[in-house]
Amino acid sequence: MSGPNGRTTLLRCERLDRWFGGVHAVDGVDLEVATGSLHAIIGPNGSGKTTLFNLITGHTRPHGGRVWFADRDVTGLPYHRVVRLGIAKSYQITTVFQSLSVFENVRIAAQSARWPYTFWLPASRLRDASRLAEQTLERVGLQHRRRELAGNLSHGELRHLDLAIALATRPKLLLLDEPTAGMSPAETEATVQLIQDLRRDLTVVMIEHKMDVVLRIAERITVLNFGVKLFEGTPEEVRGHPRVQEVYLQGAL
Ligand code: ADP
Ligand code: MG
Repeated sequence: MSGPNGRTTLLRCERLDRWFGGVHAVDGVDLEVATGSLHAIIGPNGSGKTTLFNLITGHTRPHGGRVWFADRDVTGLPYHRVVRLGIAKSYQITTVFQSLSVFENVRIAAQSARWPYTFWLPASRLRDASRLAEQTLERVGLQHRRRELAGNLSHGELRHLDLAIALATRPKLLLLDEPTAGMSPAETEATVQLIQDLRRDLTVVMIEHKMDVVLRIAERITVLNFGVKLFEGTPEEVRGHPRVQEVYLQGAL
């Protein structure tokens, strides 16, 4: 699939729909993400951002529309299959094993994504998974905490562990749901640096509330409102768009 700026399209959503009772959480949303880009999704609380991610990853089934990933129709595939195709999601609510070490959490993710149905792994594969876990921990800056129980990490460290768990599956596309939520300014800055670093070999779609972060690092921004795509454009276009300002940005810029 070719997309904007001559780059290929890695992810394409076409008229995605999802209802929850009477709430039209995602309402006919189209989305196209270019390979290698950093694409942000913004919008007020309850505008359907997390649901959109869940529709892409197979955590929630769409009531209408289709999702293509690297030219393959992945609509409605369960998450464990989506992960193996190369999409990983870092959760808004962290889902790590609190009573396991930081290292074990990442090693399990590395192992289960590559050899999902194998309980007993040959030693060589265990070593591969361990090496990948080590590299990933280094990348997110948690190497020095590798032996710590995940339950003892600070909030910011937990978010980075969550990210490492997603990265250990070796995704081509990484979906980040509010990666800087609840972080101090210093932790936010470290996370922004990390995301920018990840972009060297990954495509990233990121839901983010902090407008300074979004306007600084996103290449394209999609604005959702009541489940509907209100606008999409560059940071400059979003900043200058009157409807976006009215709905969302007032006071945030
Ligand atoms: P956002 O991430 O933009 O804050 P969400 O995607 O979480 O928004 O939610 C969009 C709408 O869908 C909200 O009205 C929310 O209450 C509703 N919703 C989301 N998930 C569920 C669910 N599992 N059950 C019922 N309603 C849901
Ligand atoms: Mg959300």
